[in-house]
Amino acid sequence: MSDIQTLDAKAQKALFEANKLAKRLRHHVGDAINDFNMIEQGDRVMVCLSGGKDSFALLDILLGLQKSAPIDFSIVAVNLDQKQPGFPEHVLPEYLTSIGVEYRIVEEDTYSIVKRVIPEGKTTCSLCSRLRRGILYRVADELGATKIALGHHRDDMLHTLFLNMFYGGKLKSMPPKLVSDDGRHMVIRPLAYCREKDLERYAKLREFPIIPCNLCGSQPNLQRQVVKEMVNDWDKRFPGRLESMFRALQNVVPSHLADTGLFDFAGLKTGDAPFADGDTAFDKEEFRDPPLPGDDELADAPRRTISILDSRPKETSCGG
Ligand code: SF4
Repeated sequence: MSDIQTLDAKAQKALFEANKLAKRLRHHVGDAINDFNMIEQGDRVMVCLSGGKDSFALLDILLGLQKSAPIDFSIVAVNLDQKQPGFPEHVLPEYLTSIGVEYRIVEEDTYSIVKRVIPEGKTTCSLCSRLRRGILYRVADELGATKIALGHHRDDMLHTLFLNMFYGGKLKSMPPKLVSDDGRHMVIRPLAYCREKDLERYAKLREFPIIPCNLCGSQPNLQRQVVKEMVNDWDKRFPGRLESMFRALQNVVPSHLADTGLFDFAGLKTGDAPFADGDTAFDKEEFRDPPLPGDDELADAPRRTISILDSRPKETSCGG
């Protein structure tokens, strides 16, 4: 085989892999939107764009889905310029203008507030994110947004699960959809089914103009870093474990935990009828190896009848 033929074959393989990755991410996002009813007809989705790989990918995939989805929804990208030293102000407006999406850049100097209030050497993230949240809710109101989309992905959700278990004494993760703490906004995480390593590859392929996230000079959250390393190490050594852990989040059995608020253990009674999830106390649990990560890993999840992955034109039933 000549050098040119080898190059061609390599380029074709790379293109094939890139298309496969884009398709997988699009399907994961579409499935998450459907499973949690994240986006509905007429929604105005405010996509929070930090300049990191995840929020770029989120915006890009949502814009792709918007073109073909059987429902109409609008998208407005919002970036909060927190006035960190060295923040390259021109990058996001240039990118957003080039792709032709409606956007708003909000300038609020939360950096100075945080620096003034938090003593030197202490982690600034908690105050910083609280300030950011309040501003984003306000902007959502101003823009008439009905949904606020954040770029957290599957691995963020798993990290949060372990952080809560290790340091918070709670079995709690990061939900794909929730009502904001002020009760007035719906927050969605359409990347809930997406793997971080897929998003990293996608960001490279799409050449997003990523803005570094360490401009504020804050110390990295050590606990989060430790959990991330632990989870990544498992991913390398035990393929399929992360997929299995995520499925566990979708498969909760309150009668086999120990939360008296979630299951009425005190009122538990024997009876003549078979009891779902009962009678296994003496059996040895059996586990199969987790399936390896693949395109169809979420194939078993129930799907809504109308999917955002369906394409236009809208299909209507003749009713008889
Ligand atoms: S890393 Fe910096 S910008 Fe990000 S939340 Fe923490 S303090 Fe805020």
